[in-house]
Amino acid sequence: MARPKCARLVNEFPNTTFFKPRGIPLVELEEITLAFDEYEALRLADLEGLYQEDAASKMNISRPTFGRIIGSAHKKVADALINGKAIKIEGGVVTMAQKRTFECSDCEHSWEVPFGTGRPASCPKCESNNLHRVESERGLGRSGRGIGCRRRRGNTTALAKETK
Ligand SMILES: [Zn+2]
Repeated sequence: MARPKCARLVNEFPNTTFFKPRGIPLVELEEITLAFDEYEALRLADLEGLYQEDAASKMNISRPTFGRIIGSAHKKVADALINGKAIKIEGGVVTMAQKRTFECSDCEHSWEVPFGTGRPASCPKCESNNLHRVESERGLGRSGRGIGCRRRRGNTTALAKETK
């Protein structure tokens, strides 16, 4: 079995998933499929104006991988605009970004922290450092294993190969 692709973290799914040029019947249209990770890359880099490095870490992927995804997305959108093709947004190996919940053992305050931001040092309410993680129902565990492919040393080579 082939090594599974790393799931890319996506924060928002599109409201509209199909675009077509006006006045051309669907049957005559060529259709381009933009994957959800490509859509998210466009949103982060082009709409929100993030640096590729930051956008890549939001999606839990390496910068070269992000560069490849956004390159592909730009090409598809340009092709659709210039050659009058329809765009359908679907598919791609993605996971919705999830939040981790922490709870303070002293004041029972609980709050959410997005993945990839590290464990909070102290309770935002009473500044106690007596905190514990409240497991999500999917039980991702402390290391966030469920989403896999967090950039670790062991993964870097594989990611670099993947981008060739
Ligand atoms: Zn507290």
